[in-house]
Amino acid sequence: MKYKRILLKLSGESLMGGQPYGLSTDVLASYARQIRAVAESGVQLAIVIGGGNIFRGLSGVNRGFDRVKGDQMGMLATIINSLALQSALESEGVKARVLTSIRMEPIGEYYSKARALECMRAGEVVIVGGGTSNPFFSTDTASALRGVEVEADVMLKGTRVDGVYTADPEKDPAAVRFDEISFDEVYARGLKVMDLTAFTLCKENRLPVIVFDMDTEGNLGKVVAGEKIGTLVHE
Ligand code: UDP
Repeated sequence: MKYKRILLKLSGESLMGGQPYGLSTDVLASYARQIRAVAESGVQLAIVIGGGNIFRGLSGVNRGFDRVKGDQMGMLATIINSLALQSALESEGVKARVLTSIRMEPIGEYYSKARALECMRAGEVVIVGGGTSNPFFSTDTASALRGVEVEADVMLKGTRVDGVYTADPEKDPAAVRFDEISFDEVYARGLKVMDLTAFTLCKENRLPVIVFDMDTEGNLGKVVAGEKIGTLVHE
């Protein structure tokens, strides 16, 4: 395997599968199988999951919710997703531990870098729920932060799109995918890989990011093995 320790970001929205809301057990099972295969090869995994399938702070604002409370609701949504993935992993026979950025024992232990590393070194898959614990941030930023903290070799951003394109491929059929691209070029072209807070954290700490399609089963293993699928964003 090319990478020894990875930070995997899963979007909450992907967990819906074909449904309009909530959790698809098929998607969870597919993710769990892919994660098991990678974990069994000895790769250390920390995972951060979004909450967009349940609640996003910003969309709450449009419906009259206070932003801070909306963001807190979003962070709680990431915990729900973390528990769902933990359960799916355990069904696959994978030891998985939920650490939370917000104290909420016994649902999960309070996150610290030391605890995360201890669990990963003991062969457990670590899921960090609760985002950064702060409003006005995203789970992409939480992923970048945890990735830098646990000294991951790479941040893998698993999405429905198979990489970074010159334009939004769902709107522009002429859009072309990059195999690799520098942080500076992403910025100069105004491409939306992640929000700028997350992006800057990765750039400033030299954490490479690979954007890939996690919904095609087997892709996670390929990316970790170093196969050139998706788009590598690097220095
Ligand atoms: N959130 C937050 N702080 C964080 C991480 C997440 O306030 O550090 C909230 C925010 O409201 C966000 C929601 O949690 O909209 C769900 O996360 P995100 O939108 O990143 O999920 P995804 O798009 O990956 O499903």
